[in-house]
Amino acid sequence: MNLLPAAVAEVIYLAAAVCFILALKGLSSPRGARRGNLLGALGAAIAVVTVLLSTDFRGANLAFVLGSVGIGSAVAVPAARRVKMTEMPQLVAIFNGVGGGAAAVVGVIELAEWMGTEPGAVATTATAFAILVGSTSLLGSILTYFKLQGTITSRPIVVPFAAPLMVAALVAGVGVGVAVALTGNVWLGVVLMAVGLAFGALLVLPVGGADVPIVISLLNAFTGLTVAASGWAMSNTLLLVAGTLVGASGSILTIAMATAMGRSVTGILFGALKGGSTAGSTQTSDRPVRRAQAEDVAITLAYANKVVVVPGYGLAVAQAQHVVAELVTALRARGVDAVYGIHPVAGRMPGHMNVLLAEANVPYELLVEADDINAAMPSTDVVVVVGANDVVNPAARTDPGAPIYGMPIINADQAGQTIFLKRSMRPGFAGIENELLFSEKTQVLFGDAKESLTNVVGALKEV
Ligand code: NDP
Repeated sequence: MNLLPAAVAEVIYLAAAVCFILALKGLSSPRGARRGNLLGALGAAIAVVTVLLSTDFRGANLAFVLGSVGIGSAVAVPAARRVKMTEMPQLVAIFNGVGGGAAAVVGVIELAEWMGTEPGAVATTATAFAILVGSTSLLGSILTYFKLQGTITSRPIVVPFAAPLMVAALVAGVGVGVAVALTGNVWLGVVLMAVGLAFGALLVLPVGGADVPIVISLLNAFTGLTVAASGWAMSNTLLLVAGTLVGASGSILTIAMATAMGRSVTGILFGALKGGSTAGSTQTSDRPVRRAQAEDVAITLAYANKVVVVPGYGLAVAQAQHVVAELVTALRARGVDAVYGIHPVAGRMPGHMNVLLAEANVPYELLVEADDINAAMPSTDVVVVVGANDVVNPAARTDPGAPIYGMPIINADQAGQTIFLKRSMRPGFAGIENELLFSEKTQVLFGDAKESLTNVVGALKEV
């Protein structure tokens, strides 16, 4: 078509890049997240249309491009619409992997296109990088998808000779990568892709449990860098800017998530190779606990001065965000100082609780972050733990053998009383028992969180 001159396309790319930057700014707070998301989508739409209008497609290529966009949209749109909030990390993983894979394939195609020409060392080096890192991201992301989906075990899988194999794959990757950069040979590019895929599998298989989503974020950063390298190789400013933004934000998110869980990125990636485990058991405990009824809980809460509600993954499973908001509103109407204690990794994705509670129109001022809520714990009368477990498990402070040891938690054990709302004695994500459940200051209201909270709200009206 080539309806847009290259100079005009460059200016429009810049506008799309500005949309991406503003999108990230919006996504940094719950208030601006929706607007940020829309801006990001707008930037991507502008970019795609500009590519179509400014490219001189040869032969049937335009039909292939439009066909691919059609097939991709037909698969991705329903998948994104149908996905449950709790399965979002898997979706992010697979979309991210496909992005990395696409950049790697584009790299191989570029090498084929350059045959018999002199593309220059910078372009071939960037292409070699895109092929290696993009294919690492592709297979790594597919495996994390299967781990989170439960198709393969989410526990660390350590293949025999994992560490030497990983070193060998890394050395092969660097060696073949340098050869591709020097020769621009397309067949060496295919070999490099195979090495990248193998490295992706070796990198991700030993990662287990709660660490898997952190690795998804790391692979997301890899894909960003891959896209940036493609932008470099193809002299495309937009790919360069967008890829760098994804690479940088993915790296920051990886470090933030690892810090929130009290772990190091190298410990997450290589911990299992040294014999450590990143996941616990999933055994159910049969030790006795103090059971509560909805009526007892309503009375306890109605006569408390200060109540902290700690939501977790079970709140999302039960979709109990509206009824928990109803409970807190009712308590506040009675003069109880009731707020939410938000742990950074409660749920299954960063910001999960903020998103859920925003859906129920909970005012942001009532969401108190872990550090601040911990300062208030000794003066708190009751902590209501709604479908959370690991984020209040004192083993993170006391048991060096626990997979969550070192993770900052909400110190519910320091409050006057704790009430757990959960369905059974099954452990949380980390698969370990929570001593707080057996404390004499603790009561457990068994049942689905939505049902239990509805009963408590009902009983509160009678108090
Ligand atoms: P946990 O997984 O520790 O505990 C969830 C609890 O919810 C379980 O005790 C479960 O018990 C209960 N539950 C499940 N469904 C329901 C229901 N319908 N009604 C009532 N209760 C229910 O969740 P936390 O939020 O405390 O901790 C998050 C964990 O996930 C941490 O280990 C964190 O490291 C990990 N993680 C977090 C990520 C993030 O970015 N947020 C990313 C990856 C991992 P029962 O089955 O008995 O009902």
